[in-house]
Amino acid sequence: MKSITPDQIINVSGKRITGNEKFHFQCHEKLACFNKCCRNLNLFLYPYDIIRLKQNLNISSDVFLDTYVDIILRPDNFFPDVLLKMTETDEKTCPFLTEKGCSVYLDRPDTCRTFPIEKGMLFNDNINNHTIISLFRPPDFCLGRHEHKSLTLNKWAEDQKAFTHNKMTEKWSLIKYLFYNDPWGSEGAYGPKGKMAFMAAYNIDKFRNFIFKSTFLKRYKVKTSMLKKAGKDDTVLLGIGFSWIKFFIFNIKSKNITIR
Ligand code: SF4
Ligand code: SF4
Repeated sequence: MKSITPDQIINVSGKRITGNEKFHFQCHEKLACFNKCCRNLNLFLYPYDIIRLKQNLNISSDVFLDTYVDIILRPDNFFPDVLLKMTETDEKTCPFLTEKGCSVYLDRPDTCRTFPIEKGMLFNDNINNHTIISLFRPPDFCLGRHEHKSLTLNKWAEDQKAFTHNKMTEKWSLIKYLFYNDPWGSEGAYGPKGKMAFMAAYNIDKFRNFIFKSTFLKRYKVKTSMLKKAGKDDTVLLGIGFSWIKFFIFNIKSKNITIR
C-alpha cells in the first residue's frame, strides 16, 4: 500500500473507486491471460504476508526471508521494503506460479489478493488524517476487466478473503509512514535498532524467541490478553511487534505495551 500526499494524487493512475460504486471484473482460468500477471513483478510483501506464506510453505520466517525475498531501502523512506524475488528465468515468473495457477493461493499476498485494485493511503497533513483510496487499474493484457461480473470494493474483498490482509497492511502502512522521517541518526536503517525493528515486523519466529526467551518481558509489560495468545498466534504476536516498534523507535505509547 503506497503512501500518497495530496500533491501526488493527480499523478496516480487508475480509476478511483469509492463506497458502493460498481466495477466489472472476473478472473478465471479460461481467460487467455491466465497467469500472465504473475511474472516480472515488483511485488511488495507486507509483514502479515510473510506470516501467511511461511505458514503455507511450512518453513520458518528466517528461511522464508533467506529464500524468497529481496530487501531494499528506497531513497524516500527509512525502513527497508521487502519484495518477492522472481525466478531467474527469461519470464521472471513468481516462484509460486505453476501451470495450474498460484501454488500458495489460499495464503497469497495482499497485493495479489486485491489486484486489480490497488490501495493507497492518502495522508493530508499527519498520520491521524488519512484515507484509504482504491484504484481500479488492471494492466492492458488483463482480460478480466471485460467480464461482466459486477462488484463493489466490499464484495471484492469478501470474494478474495482479503479483510484481514487489508487490515494488517493498513496498520503496517501507518507505521511505515512514520519512517518518512529518519529515526536512526548515524547508525542508519541497518544498525542495531533498525535490525530489531525489522525483526519485529518481518521475522516473526525470531521475534517470538526475542519476546519469550530474552529479558524482554522483564523490561516490558505486554497486555495480558495479547500475551496469552501470542505464543500460538502469529497475528497477535505481530500486533505486539507493531506496538513495540512504535514505542521502541518513536516513543508512541499504547495500551498494548508499556515499560516496567
Ligand atoms: S491478467 Fe487479470 S484476468 Fe488474467 S489471470 Fe491475471 S488477474 Fe486474472
Ligand atoms: S503469489 Fe500467487 S498470485 Fe501472487 S504473483 Fe505469485 S503466483 Fe501470482
